[in-house]
Amino acid sequence: MLIATAMNAYAASSGRVFADRASTVGASEVGQCARKVYWLKNEDDPQHAAARDPDYQDGWGARMRGSIYENHFWEPALRQAYGKLLLFAGSEQQTFASGFLSATPDGLIVGGGPDGEDCMVECKTADPRTNLSEAKAENVYQTHVQMGLIRELTPWKPTHSILSYTDASFWNEVKEFVIPFDQRIFETAKRRAAEIITAKHASDLKPEGWIAGGRECDYCPFTRACGIERRKGPSVEGVPDPQFVAEMAGLAKAIKACEAAAKGNDTRLRELQDEMRNRLRQKGVRKIPGVVTWSAVKGRSGWDNKAIREAAEQAGIDLSPFNTVGEPTDRLMVTISASTDVEEPQAANEAA
Ligand code: SF4
Repeated sequence: MLIATAMNAYAASSGRVFADRASTVGASEVGQCARKVYWLKNEDDPQHAAARDPDYQDGWGARMRGSIYENHFWEPALRQAYGKLLLFAGSEQQTFASGFLSATPDGLIVGGGPDGEDCMVECKTADPRTNLSEAKAENVYQTHVQMGLIRELTPWKPTHSILSYTDASFWNEVKEFVIPFDQRIFETAKRRAAEIITAKHASDLKPEGWIAGGRECDYCPFTRACGIERRKGPSVEGVPDPQFVAEMAGLAKAIKACEAAAKGNDTRLRELQDEMRNRLRQKGVRKIPGVVTWSAVKGRSGWDNKAIREAAEQAGIDLSPFNTVGEPTDRLMVTISASTDVEEPQAANEAA
């Protein structure tokens, strides 16, 4: 691993260093899982830090690809086209901060908006396999924060942001999304940043990555700490009073209703997918640009663990040193029937 080792070391030493990132939440961070961002901000705080997963590896490749592309192609290309009308880009890039929120935009083009207003420009590169039928939600959020901070802190009042995604393989393929500024989203981002920075404990913030299905957790350094936090039971055994029983019964019924709706949705989804496949097959069509692409995917290669174990036993090989035990988990069994009548739980302040 001669080359890979050198590249890893170089990436670690040449990463961009942002000043005092711990006291604000950046525009690219504010749309991420709040609990993860809290731990990232507190990594140097012995009281609030969480240990990174021992097997976590920082995948720097996409980040490095983006910044090299931005600095050596995207910004020079925009500079050539817009000259002095391009602000806050390349060597003029600046970090703007207000309260607990900050942003380092990629640029602003004076008079570059749809009706000649000022507009922000944001550079992204995208893996060719990414489905970009719409801009990524976290990137859209980022553009609102950038526009909001520029509007608040400079004389420039951008009304739109052009969010561009360049295909990482074919740089001539660029998708652009025009995002109109929304002050309410900016205000929400400000409140959210304050909640994250002023939280006293990670458990004050929801595990949003996990709630959203876990895709973000696949790249999170804190899955172990988060799992421990989520599974943590009560430290003392209490006796539920009637008010609390009613509150939990309400929650339990809501969970049951969601489960039933998800099952129904899943069935309908498969039904629609099957119908689409049938119609495409009948018409002999595999691709309708901008609508659907139907392609074959190679089967994943895997291992037949049972056969390997049997072969090892027959060969007299002891496999116990390779035995691993997964992270402990928990089980939340909701046993209420969907038809049980429950009283609406009173709000906490009414109950007090
Ligand atoms: S594991 Fe998932 S839910 Fe937990 S902090 Fe990380 S991203 Fe958030």
